[in-house]
Amino acid sequence: MQRDEPAASHLYLVGTPIGNLGDFSARAKALLTAVDVIACEDTRHSGLLLSNLQARGRKISFHQHNTRTRLPQLLELLAEGNSLAVISDAGLPGISDPGEELSAAARSAGFPVICIPGPCAATTALVCSGLPSARFCFEGFLPVKGRERKTRLEAIAAEQRTSVLYEAPHRLITLLEELEQLCGADRPLQVARELTKRHEQQVGPTIAAALEHFGTHRPQGEFTLVLGGCPAEAEIELDDANLLDRMNAAMQTGTSASSAARQLASETGISRRRLYGLIHHNAAD
Ligand code: SAM
Repeated sequence: MQRDEPAASHLYLVGTPIGNLGDFSARAKALLTAVDVIACEDTRHSGLLLSNLQARGRKISFHQHNTRTRLPQLLELLAEGNSLAVISDAGLPGISDPGEELSAAARSAGFPVICIPGPCAATTALVCSGLPSARFCFEGFLPVKGRERKTRLEAIAAEQRTSVLYEAPHRLITLLEELEQLCGADRPLQVARELTKRHEQQVGPTIAAALEHFGTHRPQGEFTLVLGGCPAEAEIELDDANLLDRMNAAMQTGTSASSAARQLASETGISRRRLYGLIHHNAAD
């Protein structure tokens, strides 16, 4: 721990393990033992972790359903001179949890914000996927349904960088099916399951392989998906027969001709008019 940690009126974003308690850093433990107030996503869930440390600070719940009321209270505690730590159920607070809003609010109110780094499912899954990690996008959880989900999925399918997504076990197969439809069955994919835990597993190396596996093994536990980027146009065979095959495959699943053309246009950058023309030309033959 640094010499004067925890300091008055400082917010600390403290990383905690995503499964394996051996990943809890000495600095994180020392900080949590000594800090005045600890905002926890779930006080019961974090209770055991904190009672093992004999953390003396006051525990306050801070989660997605009480963010609005809690934010001014937590800022008030900082203004009174308290040191404040925030922890999430697991991992790095601020990545797909309310730590994000607290960090922004504390910083815009002028309080120092310090991160005590720790494990994060997204980066852990990325580096062991074997997929390119020099440039990547973090997508977190997608909207559960509707137009917003579709738009995000289309953008992910066309993205050339590696994408990292979080998904709940009961929605995993639906997401894999949607990715298969938009990216093709052979797009590289690694599904990281139960990272750092006893039953840690990697399922890949393609969308088709993951679908085949989870077709016979019910998804259970926690999942992070790492999707290979869309190949640059020059690298894919964009001849008419190939384009037509891809649109025909989409239409066989009930997609209309115009949607199939629009979808493929967003994936390849080829004009929708040219693609739609291909379908009609082929139907007229
Ligand atoms: N802040 C956390 C972090 O740094 O990773 C993420 C919080 S988010 C609410 C929880 C999601 O992260 C889970 O639903 C799952 O998608 C992913 N996740 C967390 N732990 C994981 C693990 N051990 N293995 C795979 N994915 C995990």
